[in-house]
Amino acid sequence: MPELPEVEIVRRGLERHVVGRTIDSVQLLHPRALRRHLAGPDDFAAAVKGRQITGALRRGKYLWLPVGEDAVLAHLGMSGQLLVGDASRPLTPHVRVRLTFTDSGPDLRFSDQRTFGHLSLAPGGAVLPAAIAHIAPDPLEPAFDLPAVTARLRDRRTGIKRALLDQSLVSGIGNIYADEALWRAQLHWARQAQMLRPAAIARLFASVREVFAESLSAGGTTFDSLYVNVNGQSGYFERSLAVYGRAGQPCRRCQAPVRRDPFMNRSAFSCPKCQPRPRPRP
Ligand SMILES: [Zn+2]
Repeated sequence: MPELPEVEIVRRGLERHVVGRTIDSVQLLHPRALRRHLAGPDDFAAAVKGRQITGALRRGKYLWLPVGEDAVLAHLGMSGQLLVGDASRPLTPHVRVRLTFTDSGPDLRFSDQRTFGHLSLAPGGAVLPAAIAHIAPDPLEPAFDLPAVTARLRDRRTGIKRALLDQSLVSGIGNIYADEALWRAQLHWARQAQMLRPAAIARLFASVREVFAESLSAGGTTFDSLYVNVNGQSGYFERSLAVYGRAGQPCRRCQAPVRRDPFMNRSAFSCPKCQPRPRPRP
């Protein structure tokens, strides 16, 4: 499943390969990909034909391509890919939507094996589509406001990891990156958000940005082609993970065996020495 760094890699690829180009046609190969576009696929095709893509933007795991005042909004779901390549290459079975361009250059294909992803037209959504306006800025966006997020976190009677995963507070942080950032900041996942000092919260978000940046650079190495891939990159960064998925293996800082706790039907990975459990409050 793509997380924020993988989606950011796709955004950069779109910025490089489709921005400034004018859409010529839409070929819909599987109706499910446009299910969120309630006016139907013909309306989608008519609305985007002849429009120039003027940007490639992202919030959390959503991507959008402004076309005039409107935007083509995309979510990759579990397995979605946005692929740019030679327009004459054969269609693979999982391609759901194909956009061609007036310059007859490389086309853009939305491929999605598990069909959880989707595309839609967001009317008036060039700056920020209404459908995702409730999602908080992610830590890589200029709109991310650390003092405001700190104040809201310190209002929460909840564990810090649960707060990090709350997309209305901060978006784009999934299970993997939450565990990695907490390990770097040396904070246990169950620490009460409201008990954390602002300096600890600042350290935590600096860690989030560091982990994202390292993951992005691990993905960047295979990215210098027309193929905008979300798969290879995440696999590369897996080797650098400090705690996630490493239960029983030595902590990369102190060698203590990494601990796994049940957490919201999933797991939380942490180091028992670097990230001591919070003391129960009297
Ligand atoms: Zn440790």
